[in-house]
Amino acid sequence: MSYYITDPCIGTKDTACVDVCPVDCIHPRKDEAAFLAATILFIDPDECIDCGACVPACPVLAIYAEDDVPESQRAFVQINEVWYKDPTEAEKLIGEYITSAPDQMALDPKDRAAAHGK
Ligand code: SF4
Ligand code: SF4
Repeated sequence: MSYYITDPCIGTKDTACVDVCPVDCIHPRKDEAAFLAATILFIDPDECIDCGACVPACPVLAIYAEDDVPESQRAFVQINEVWYKDPTEAEKLIGEYITSAPDQMALDPKDRAAAHGK
């Protein structure tokens, strides 16, 4: 299992989760070259130890355990995983998600989790 970052990270990307992850599996960090270009941060599913420490650290409730990812956010399971193999493809998938969810993206990031539903 792993944890996954979802749409409230778009427009937030404050890296609070990076600071609490005990195994450094959330990237890109601010000191990595890919940080500026990345729309969100991504959890490496092969490295995540499912500790859950990142969940309360996120100010916009963007992070879910795999079994708890709401249906509306399922695209982000693939997005997190793909980024570690092909960042360009991951950004393309984020772009497709943004286009597909205009009402959700019109919300302030801090209000998006409440609108995720199940
Ligand atoms: S669940 Fe734990 S190991 Fe996985 S990304 Fe969050 S803080 Fe890191
Ligand atoms: S704490 Fe939340 S909003 Fe901030 S970078 Fe991590 S997932 Fe994104």
